[in-house]
This record gives sequence, structure tokens and C-alpha cells, in this order.
Amino acid sequence: MEKDVLIAQGSSRTTDEKMGAHSDGTDIYICHNCGHRAIVNESLCKYKCFICGPRANIARVSSTWVANLLFNEMSSMCVEPTFELEPFSY
Ligand SMILES: [Zn+2]
Repeated sequence: MEKDVLIAQGSSRTTDEKMGAHSDGTDIYICHNCGHRAIVNESLCKYKCFICGPRANIARVSSTWVANLLFNEMSSMCVEPTFELEPFSY
């Protein structure tokens, strides 16, 4: 019900915050060069892209846990999603 009211009011930023950060928001890491998801260990500050190797340019992108689960399921079926990153703008 709350989601429907927010969508009806056209408040996309608030809807994004409610559905992402206040729900199941998580960060995924994507390589700018090739668009594949990167392997990250934040506690050891290790960032790696298997495609680009040491030339990787990795960005952190806000997403949801459900989307991350979908990408993992697709990867397990040998369907690797790639992403095209654009600068953040309002
Ligand atoms: Zn890469």
C-alpha cells in the first residue's frame, strides 16, 4: 500500500530508497572496462575482475539482494549478465 502511494505521487527517489536501502539493499561491484561483476573481499580490500585482471576499473553500484540473487542464478546457468555503467545523475 505504501509502495503504491509513493509510485502514484511520482516520488522515484523515495521509492528507490524505500525499496532498496530500507528493504534488501546491497552493493554489487562491476568492472567499468568489461561490464562483468567483480570479485570483492572488502575486509581484505581485494578487488578483482577475472576478465581484465590488474587493469580493472571497479565501481560499487547500489542494488537489491533479489537482483543479486538473480544474477547469481543466471551465472550458474552460464548466462553471464554484463552492465554498461553511466555516471550518476539526478
Ligand atoms: Zn573487467
